Amino acid sequence: MTIRIADAAHFHPYPPSYYAATAHRSPSRPTLEGVKQVDVCVIGGGYTGLSTALHCAERGLSVVLLEGKRIGWGASGVNGGQVMPGWNRTTRGLVQQFGPAQARTLFAMANEAVEGLFQRIERHQIACDAQRGHLIVAATPADMQMLETELEAREAMGYVHSRLVDRDIAVGLTGAPQMYGGLLDTRGGHVHPLNLALGLAVAAELAGARLHEDSRVVRMRPVAARMLVETLRGKVLAKNVVLACGAQSGKLLEPVGRRTSALTAFAAATAQLSDKEAAGLVKDGLAVCDTRMSVNYFRMSPDNRLLFGGGERYRLSADEPAEAVVRSRLEAVFPQLEGVALDYTWSGLVTVTSSRMPAVGRVGSVFYADGYSGQGVALSNLMGKVLSEAITGDNSRFDLISHLPNLAVPGGRWLRLPIFAAIGALAAFREAH
Ligand SMILES: Cc1cc2nc3c(=O)[nH]c(=O)nc-3n(C[C@H](O)[C@H](O)[C@H](O)COP(=O)(O)OP(=O)(O)OC[C@H]3O[C@@H](n4cnc5c(N)ncnc54)[C@H](O)[C@@H]3O)c2cc1C
Repeated sequence: MTIRIADAAHFHPYPPSYYAATAHRSPSRPTLEGVKQVDVCVIGGGYTGLSTALHCAERGLSVVLLEGKRIGWGASGVNGGQVMPGWNRTTRGLVQQFGPAQARTLFAMANEAVEGLFQRIERHQIACDAQRGHLIVAATPADMQMLETELEAREAMGYVHSRLVDRDIAVGLTGAPQMYGGLLDTRGGHVHPLNLALGLAVAAELAGARLHEDSRVVRMRPVAARMLVETLRGKVLAKNVVLACGAQSGKLLEPVGRRTSALTAFAAATAQLSDKEAAGLVKDGLAVCDTRMSVNYFRMSPDNRLLFGGGERYRLSADEPAEAVVRSRLEAVFPQLEGVALDYTWSGLVTVTSSRMPAVGRVGSVFYADGYSGQGVALSNLMGKVLSEAITGDNSRFDLISHLPNLAVPGGRWLRLPIFAAIGALAAFREAH
């Protein structure tokens, strides 16, 4: 059942977005009160926190999750819902940087992230409009060569679920006239992001985790052999803490702050289109993204809207409304939609790293995972599993991921972001050529 936000303010005090307006009814969870003792205290109720809580509870650990606002309040509730195969790197780039053996392990982990997510959705019957089928479209003829190289590299890894499509097919599949071909993948896909988060929350609770909303963590410090995590009204004494606050993580733990930076990303949902208009747009229930460094991504909603994301800013100037950013991108990709009504526009924070591989690590008994660089829908769910492995004594995959090179830059976000963006752009250029 879906309800509209106007009918459900009590249940959904989320910032306005298409996803908030079409979210399933979800109970609010109690604010943390008093003192609790647990094996694991998870801070943050997005995918990273929910996945960690779920995997830890399934491993028999006692878990409390503290969310400052509502489940899925952050990027997990507003993202494009694209379940993208791989890391935010080309497969050839992985081999060049990490060597064939480690690249193979990383490639397999990214596949596990996608499969694991769809299996979770199936196992817990999470109603989040999950659908398979993902297409990367080439925005320039040269980018088509990059996609050909990517296909070869995937096939060299034994991956058989991708194939190239030519320009006519790519244009036909997307309705976007300026595309030069594409890489179609049958394992990736898309979900309703907020309903995924809400469904993962229920699964975590059924596995035994206790979830608290409106429970913002203001401080954490070691006490004897435990960590004491404090909110305004309660405390948790935990053997291990998992920091999963997305763009806010750096505020609680400086090493995360040095390894990640956040930028504002934009999205929109058009008004409902007629069947005839929708028939000329994205087909076969595909999720689509293009090869631009500043990526555009889009898909159709179940109620005939084009859901479109694109455009990002280090900082939004006061006289630049979010609609202006996303509309110009949408109309450039779909000129036939010039002037289309946008019923919803919204923004969220994407955390990025210098290498575009996640920032995962630990400081004492505090673990963290962040910086998925725009590919967190699948990867954050896997990282929750990897963190649960480490917490229960199997460090092999945690060690691999936590030692991936990510530049740590001291100073504020405004210094880090341009540095990371420049390094990322250079690395992407090298991988593509
Ligand atoms: C507009 C947009 C589009 C995107 N599109 C895609 C896409 O299509 N595909 C893809 O793979 N990725 C996409 N992403 C990235 C993806 O959404 C993220 O990588 C992922 O959601 C990260 O999840 P998380 O749990 O780490 O962080 P978040 O979802 O941000 O969760 C962090 C949570 O911590 C809470 N919190 C913060 N501070 C505290 C505190 N002190 N105490 C308690 N709780 C706290 C917040 O309220 C929040 O709920 C997109 C992101 C954005 C913003």
